Amino acid sequence: MIDGVDKTGTFYEQMPRNELESFQSKALIRTVARAAQSQYYSNKFKENGLDVNDIKSRDDIVKLPFTTKEDLRLSYPTGMLAVSPMEVVRMHTSSGTTGKPTAIFHSQEDIDNWSELMARCLAMAGATANDVFQNMTGYGLFTGGLGLHYGAERLGMWVIPAGAGNTTRQIMLIRDFGVNVIHATPSYAMHVAERMVQDGDDPRSLGIKIAVLGAEPYSEEMRLKLQDLYGFTAFNSYGLSEMNGPGVGFECPYQNGMHVWEDSYLVEVINPETLQPVAEGEVGELVLTTLRRKAMPIIRYRTRDLTRVLPDECPCSRKHIRLARMLGRSDDMLIVRGVNVFPSQIEEVIMQHSWIGGNYVIYLTRKESLDQMVVKVEIAPGAFDGSIDTLRYRRTELQHQLKDQVGFNVGVEVMEPGSLPVSEGKAKRVIDERGV
Ligand SMILES: [Zn+2]
Repeated sequence: MIDGVDKTGTFYEQMPRNELESFQSKALIRTVARAAQSQYYSNKFKENGLDVNDIKSRDDIVKLPFTTKEDLRLSYPTGMLAVSPMEVVRMHTSSGTTGKPTAIFHSQEDIDNWSELMARCLAMAGATANDVFQNMTGYGLFTGGLGLHYGAERLGMWVIPAGAGNTTRQIMLIRDFGVNVIHATPSYAMHVAERMVQDGDDPRSLGIKIAVLGAEPYSEEMRLKLQDLYGFTAFNSYGLSEMNGPGVGFECPYQNGMHVWEDSYLVEVINPETLQPVAEGEVGELVLTTLRRKAMPIIRYRTRDLTRVLPDECPCSRKHIRLARMLGRSDDMLIVRGVNVFPSQIEEVIMQHSWIGGNYVIYLTRKESLDQMVVKVEIAPGAFDGSIDTLRYRRTELQHQLKDQVGFNVGVEVMEPGSLPVSEGKAKRVIDERGV
């Protein structure tokens, strides 16, 4: 709740649609008025001949301009700040880009709201104040660290801010303090499990029951593999620093898409070419508007993430819409021999094989002006039975399946366990050496 505490979210999550939508209308009017206090939006509204009083309900969102990553970059450092600098208590920046980052500002109220959203996510997954939570992602400017940390504390959990890396210490802390809820990138969770298996240990012996996985795209097959290795339930988490960070969308125990907290974000799905809304349930680019943020409201932010709104109400009875697993960021899409390929499509195929480990890399090169794709995979620890023939057979089978998936020949290189580089943050899955 905006005033007071609603860390389990019952109030907003069970609100009937009509009440939720009228709440969104009021929140949008307030957001636009707040945004107009920033240099960026004040100019933008003037350029578009927009009077903030024209925004009377959530349906008027279409009158507002889109905001892109480039707009955020151009307004760096403080062009989008909508409050006095004295009100700012924290800033984060976006990750993974070159040049100037994009900076996001939070007031105390913003941090409180974000923590509450994150607490609601954890509560939805079944975590309680009796649980011990280990945060295995990096802290600092990256929002996944502090975002989950504050949310878990808000829920009253026992929080261990382990940060990223140092696998031996991670495992020791989980064992010694009875950690039963973790947050990690899927690739790092896989790395920890494989390390344990290699050492003759069983990840299931850790007793983790809930894993929050996010910060990088990954496939359903990877989730199933991780659940099987650890015996935990893995929940998909969606967020981006422009929208606070984690806590935008999260799965309920039905694991059937991510509920977006619609009391805090207004959701649109558009055709990225025409910028018009797609038909109900169709895939398009996710566009989000902050409904609660005070220090830096962002209107109609083009996330570049491709997804669709799932139909029907969720059996969990929450009224907030659900988004399908992200198909990938439109920026992540590879064009190989003129074909659109998402790394997640490759992952989907390789994760179906128990003889392959969890780490993989897609190499792209160009030979006589023709794109070449080679997927390097590792044999899962303990999966090599000594037969080269079996290995050859498996490699050929994988090559056929990859060809079926993408429509052109894909090379496969099978490597020893642990030979591909490991990332402790976001995994680097694609190495593109085709030149510009
Ligand atoms: Zn649900």
